[in-house]
Amino acid sequence: MMPAPFANRAAVAALRARMGKRAAPIKLGGTLASAQEALMALVEFDTAGGCWLWAHSLTRSGYGVFRQGGRAHRAHRAAYRIFRGEDPGDLMVCHRCDTPACINPAHLWLGTAADNAADRDAKGRRADVRPPVLWGAANHASKLTPARVQFIRENPDMPAKVLSGMFGVSGNAIGEVRRGGTWR
Ligand SMILES: [Zn+2]
Repeated sequence: MMPAPFANRAAVAALRARMGKRAAPIKLGGTLASAQEALMALVEFDTAGGCWLWAHSLTRSGYGVFRQGGRAHRAHRAAYRIFRGEDPGDLMVCHRCDTPACINPAHLWLGTAADNAADRDAKGRRADVRPPVLWGAANHASKLTPARVQFIRENPDMPAKVLSGMFGVSGNAIGEVRRGGTWR
């Protein structure tokens, strides 16, 4: 049996159904931190796979999209530019996780169209079974779960201010987690 083209297809379909076709403009100007915050405000965390799923408008094929300055932008390309500090230019921004809606910069890599096709073929031959997607932020609980602690520790370059906004905790709490102290 052919595997589904995208590992998290069902999750993306559920996300799209919930979000509808909302396409409010988001602001990506200003400082780097504010651009990061604007993107982070529009994701939900797949705590199982580590994906940052775009919880806003999606294209038919499941890519995150937003409108800014009168044109549509691909969210994962914007995330690559804003978090990695590198303009992808003519290259494709590809997903290690096979989840088009994901904008986690750690899951993105730059490639040519041929690279992307070869990668998809290689993955299609694997009988890859992934754990079910857990919707970390369907509830915006002000709690640091083990998954969120792990997330914070795996992203040392993200500003504490962004993380505290994402998880509804103080900057001090983020600092505690980073120092390896208690986090409850
Ligand atoms: Zn991902």
